[in-house]
Amino acid sequence: MATRNPETLVIIGSGPAAWTAAIYAARANLRPLVYEGEPSREMIPGGQLMYTTDVENYPGFVEGVTGPGLMHTLREQALRFGTRVEQENIASVEFGKHPFRLKPNYSDEIEALAVIVATGARANWLGVPNEERLAQMGGGVSACAVCDGALPAYRDKVLAVVGGGDSAMEESLYLTKFAREVRLIHRRDELRASKIMADRVLNHPKITVVWNARVAEVLGYDVITGVRLEDTVTHQHSEIDVGGLFVAIGHTPNTSFLGGQVALTPHGYIRTPQAWRTATTVDGVFAAGDVMDDYYRQAITAAGTGCMAALEAERWLAHHGLGESPVLETAEAPVRSGGE
Ligand code: FAD
Ligand code: NAP
Repeated sequence: MATRNPETLVIIGSGPAAWTAAIYAARANLRPLVYEGEPSREMIPGGQLMYTTDVENYPGFVEGVTGPGLMHTLREQALRFGTRVEQENIASVEFGKHPFRLKPNYSDEIEALAVIVATGARANWLGVPNEERLAQMGGGVSACAVCDGALPAYRDKVLAVVGGGDSAMEESLYLTKFAREVRLIHRRDELRASKIMADRVLNHPKITVVWNARVAEVLGYDVITGVRLEDTVTHQHSEIDVGGLFVAIGHTPNTSFLGGQVALTPHGYIRTPQAWRTATTVDGVFAAGDVMDDYYRQAITAAGTGCMAALEAERWLAHHGLGESPVLETAEAPVRSGGE
């Protein structure tokens, strides 16, 4: 049972989308409360950029910026304007009545007049034999080269990376700093990655691509010794010896805690029915970042939609005369979401 006054705006998440939304909302005197989440095997407060080193494409940093450095800066900027932060996951929500109810993992339920969901996405695993067991026991299977690649266990080894997107390119390139050789295993004969990243990989002397192959099994008992591959065209099996496996096959949007109360796309991303709007199918609930974007999935687009969500929430609150500091609407009335 909620025991305190409803929060005006609760932001769930802690990536570029959440902190940008918080910066805008705090500067609009909405006193946002951010639930930034808890560290786990799959997620970490600060979001996906906490798993990377250099971010070269976020505007404003001529020489680039580290992922954790960028996230620290965004968080500090949000705090500077009065954003409040709870280091807890939101475990479930009740969007059926207003004010909305949110249940954090450990503390008491709270109420909110408006909510921005910016919970991003988490790494996918292959789901093949031995993968999870070896990943959990530190046996040479990982979904984060930046976190684990520099460990002594991986140095001067032949390492495998799975995937054909930008993450797999980045992981492969990063691992060349430590590995003797990197084998990039991709299930098709064409990379999904951006051309600049793909070219770097294809031209790197330490990286070879194993085309049309999927990992069928991770080999090894205490530590990985190799992988069994299946050719996706001929279906023939083969084995290669590797001293580490890095899985970089994409991410799953973090929406399970919503309990189906917000409409999702067929791929599980939050639906925002109106073009150029972050309003979801629940009036007063907005979505920003990778949790609603299966197309761009960049830090700058996450930040951009975070800005949009905060402005939209601010206008929605004002339109409904809600919150401690209603602001003047500066645009047409907010788009009404579906289901009304
Ligand atoms: P995320 O960054 O995914 O963060 C969301 C966070 O919210 C989670 O990590 C978790 O801490 C928190 N959370 C989740 N569920 C809950 C809950 N129930 N309650 C409370 N908190 C919760 N993009 C670029 O533009 N440039 C790059 O160089 C680049 N490099 C990348 C490298 C890697 C290895 C990866 C994986 C991605 C990279 N990207 C890059 C993509 C970029 O990281 C994402 O687009 C961006 O981080 C998405 O931000 P977000 O705010 O949507 O959420
Ligand atoms: P992604 O673009 O979705 O690519 C996932 C890759 O994994 C695809 O090549 C896919 O194969 C493969 N794959 C998926 N499931 C698989 C399975 N079960 N078995 C084997 N292979 C599988 O994901 P991402 O690479 O993580 O990138 C996500 C977003 O972040 C993108 O928008 C990307 O641009 C961005 N990002 C940017 C940078 C950067 O700019 N420096 C770095 C990292 C990520 P198919 O191709 O056959 O589908």
